[in-house]
Amino acid sequence: MPPSLNKNSPLMRLIEGIISSFSRLLRSRSKAQTVIAPSRGPLPHLEKPTVEPSPIGPVIQETVMAPVVQEIPKVESSSAGFLRCPIKIEGQALTPFTVRISAILDHSGTAIDPTSDKKWGRSAKDQKVKAFNGEVGEGPQCPQEPCGYSMRDSDEFFKNREINYVGVLSDGGKCTLQYDGHAGYDFPYPVLTAVVAPASGELYKAAQGTDSIYSAHWGKDHSFYIKHDNGFVTWFRHCEKLIDSIEAIIGSDFTKSYRVEGGASVAYSGNFENGKSGGTPAHLHFEVRDKDWKIVDPYQTKLWRD
Ligand SMILES: [Zn+2]
Repeated sequence: MPPSLNKNSPLMRLIEGIISSFSRLLRSRSKAQTVIAPSRGPLPHLEKPTVEPSPIGPVIQETVMAPVVQEIPKVESSSAGFLRCPIKIEGQALTPFTVRISAILDHSGTAIDPTSDKKWGRSAKDQKVKAFNGEVGEGPQCPQEPCGYSMRDSDEFFKNREINYVGVLSDGGKCTLQYDGHAGYDFPYPVLTAVVAPASGELYKAAQGTDSIYSAHWGKDHSFYIKHDNGFVTWFRHCEKLIDSIEAIIGSDFTKSYRVEGGASVAYSGNFENGKSGGTPAHLHFEVRDKDWKIVDPYQTKLWRD
């Protein structure tokens, strides 16, 4: 070996140094290529990201878009369905829907009409009678009092048999709707038909000045009323008399009351008006008032239990 090729010679150390530096350079470039290779070569296969809808979006949208549910006011359970039919005939199972009705409560121009001036009776006349089912009598007026009106586009009321409406037979029965301003229901039955308490309560004869709606009282038209345990009050007019046991207790003392049970006989129907029997065709006038003594329609507010 020539001395110049001795591995310890300065020339060889120089050559080894150059080779070593070149080798480091190659390694460093190789590392760099490893790092940047992915960006230079073909892109790795990537799953197309699935765009999940934000959970907040739909919730908010659903909240905004949800239909507004309007709750239908419920009749208080203590007052719903508590009234029996006040007419009782042996051998007949009369209900509020089979009992004969000659006049209905007028929803037009009366205190139960939200557009009215809050009156009842003859002062609430508007030449129109509207029933709880929406039927209206506003055609030609029947020729005699109390006023009834015919239907413009039909010849008969309550064809769907919501109630057993017989109307005033002298005016053609169901052809006219009775009557303008009426605050209650009239049940046409013969004198001395049994009248029963529609629910339990305290029975009073009406003293003069007690009735703000008709100014009726016992002396005028044999008005009496029953204050029921849930606050409702039922009114009765034109009866012939109370049953003897109740008359014996109350007599002429209108501050006294008599405890009656629902379904018990309390009076007999009649035609008492203007202080005497025979003043009106025989029928029972029946009204329902709430705890504030405002007239309510028992058919519209579903106060009947039958
Ligand atoms: Zn009446």
